[in-house]
Amino acid sequence: MHPIGIFGGTFDPIHYGHLRSAFELLQALRLSEVRFMPAGDPPHRDVTIASPEQRLKMVRAAIGQQPGFNVDDRELRRAGPSYSVDTLAELRAEMPDRSLCLILGMDAFLGLPKWHRWQDILKLAHLVVAHRPGWRAPTMGPLGELLVDGGTGRVDDLHEAKAGRIFIHAVTQLEISSTEVRNLIASGRDPRYLMPDAVRDLIQQSACYTRTK
Ligand code: ATP
Repeated sequence: MHPIGIFGGTFDPIHYGHLRSAFELLQALRLSEVRFMPAGDPPHRDVTIASPEQRLKMVRAAIGQQPGFNVDDRELRRAGPSYSVDTLAELRAEMPDRSLCLILGMDAFLGLPKWHRWQDILKLAHLVVAHRPGWRAPTMGPLGELLVDGGTGRVDDLHEAKAGRIFIHAVTQLEISSTEVRNLIASGRDPRYLMPDAVRDLIQQSACYTRTK
């Protein structure tokens, strides 16, 4: 049984930076699947622009029939803030023996110490950090220490243990962010080639980013 990758995010909207990173990690880490998990009520950030239903629809459209890519909408169905630690505890209860890899970009990893019960996350899952343009791995502070203790460059470590390791992986650097995509659309430009056409079509139909905050 290969590890499962859990890729959380607001996906407001999903773009090729997310999809390409997930695909490279699926292959490089020999994951059995990557589960895209749109966050319902993200605790660390401002409100989302597109509704939860729209974001879920865009994620579904983006992954299409891609083998190894799945959507898990549990955080959207849960009331209240979506804490990763609660989601991972739920997954761990469902799959007691499975290696779980929480995938996050370096920017998200650097914010980890602000997450609810962040130290418990590593008891439930590994952390797989996708190296994102412009962000460096910390060498000091709590995350620097975490990397000294749990960091690994061996993919097999993610297969042999169920949780507790941190793996940093350089993905193809696609400097795309959802914020820039939203701003671009709000200023009347076309997001073509930043995301799959199916996602672009949904954005055009709903006009959800035509005016952004
Ligand atoms: P926003 O601009 O609204 O903050 P975002 O583009 O960072 O959005 P999120 O949905 O917040 O997208 O990201 C989900 C996860 O994907 C995060 O862990 C983030 O670091 C990672 N990620 C986002 N864009 C990229 C990218 N271009 N390359 C690699 N990882 C990315």
